[in-house]
This record gives sequence, C-alpha cells and structure tokens, in this order.
Amino acid sequence: MSQRSARSESFPQIAASLSSIARSFYARGWAVGTSGNLSAVVDREPLRLAISPSGVDKGELAANQILMIDEHGRVLSEHGAKPSDESSLHLTIVRERGAGAVLHTHSIWNTVLSDLHVAEGGLAIEGYEMLKGLHGVKTHQHREWLPIIENSQDMLALAASVGDTLRKHTDAHGFLLRRHGLYAWGADPAEAKRHIEILEFLLEVVGRTLLLKRSNT
Ligand SMILES: [Zn+2]
Repeated sequence: MSQRSARSESFPQIAASLSSIARSFYARGWAVGTSGNLSAVVDREPLRLAISPSGVDKGELAANQILMIDEHGRVLSEHGAKPSDESSLHLTIVRERGAGAVLHTHSIWNTVLSDLHVAEGGLAIEGYEMLKGLHGVKTHQHREWLPIIENSQDMLALAASVGDTLRKHTDAHGFLLRRHGLYAWGADPAEAKRHIEILEFLLEVVGRTLLLKRSNT
C-alpha cells in the first residue's frame, strides 16, 4: 500500500469524511445499534488518529463528535467522550499496515461467515470480478484469504492476535473477528470505504450462494 504524506488532509476534512461514511454504513445495515467504528490518520509523527466515539448511533454521527487520539489511545480532543473500545485494534492496523484509514462493520453476512469458517481459520474468496476493487488486485482470478480471529473482550490480547495475523497474512485486505465483524483499511478513508464495500459485497455473495446450493439439494 502506498503511504501518503504525513499530513494529507486536515482534521475537520477527515472528521467530515468519517462521519459521512458512518452514516452510509448505517443506512446499509452494516453498523446498527451503535456498532462499528471508523478511524483515519491525521498525523504520523507523532501518530494522531481521528476516531469515532464509543456508543454513538452511526446513523446520526456528526463530524464534531469525531475524537482525536494519540498513539496510546488517549483522547486529545476537548470532548468528554470516550474513544471506541476497539481503538487499540485501529492503532495496531495503522502500525502494521501503514494504513491511512481503518473501518469496521458488523453486518449480518460478515457475522454469519465469521462463524461458519472459523475451523479453517479464514475464508477464501476467489474468481469474482469485484475482487478487482481491492488495492493491487488486477484479475478476477485473485484468491483473497480473509483470516478469522477469535473474538475477545480483552482488547490488549485481541490487538496482539490482530498484530500476529497481519504479520502472517501480509497480502490480506481485511480480517474477520468471529461472530463480531469485519475490519478493512486503505491509504485514505475513500480507499478503506471501497475495501469494506467490496468485501461486504463478496461476503454476501458467498453467503447467498451457500444458501441457494443448500436449498437446491
Ligand atoms: Zn466491533
């Protein structure tokens, strides 16, 4: 992934794009009941991340609710709000991948498939034209391996599992947390959004195909 300059967009611009992405994910049913979270790099040296607050309705997320955190997840903005519980996962993905933005959804299809394929440790998606929407993928013959990580409420342990998985699967564009959701990232919010859209589309295709095959036998 190409790394952008240390500061490509201002905090207000980044906050506006994150809140608009949140509202669009909510509208598609990928972030209901205050689930899901979003972040983007504001500065790399020292690391500054714009991130959605914890427990907020993503259908109504406004740009002025987006927080700024440091590399330890401490809030630097002057709000009383708490950053997302999953901040440490966002920080891990930014460090491991040089990502400029990290997005997380809780859709029905990503939740179903993250459980169905847990025994294999991941899910292979291969042969679909839509794979070409993933950064660096040139052909539908690409095989995307989406690792599945066991869920946990211990965020330090979960961040360590995420780090191990990303180092092991250096080509992955995203991963699933079991019975929880999907993470994907990109060089900027627009690319991360595209990756979520592509992966959510493909997960729904895989899930619906399984259902149709089952009902035809
Ligand atoms: Zn989550």
